[in-house]
Amino acid sequence: MTKKQICTSCGKIVGGEGTVFRCPSCEKTISRCAFCKKLGIKYKCDCGFEGP
Ligand SMILES: [Zn+2]
Ligand SMILES: [Zn+2]
Repeated sequence: MTKKQICTSCGKIVGGEGTVFRCPSCEKTISRCAFCKKLGIKYKCDCGFEGP
């Protein structure tokens, strides 16, 4: 079963080209769409962790 992932940066649904990973700080799942990944847009986790 595939759960829909929402991009942490822009709020869009993450497609097949996107990426899903764990926050290095709190291990919460972070998702980014291909667009934000490509542009290197910053993400921010609920715990306050920010990354490129
Ligand atoms: Zn995005
Ligand atoms: Zn976090």
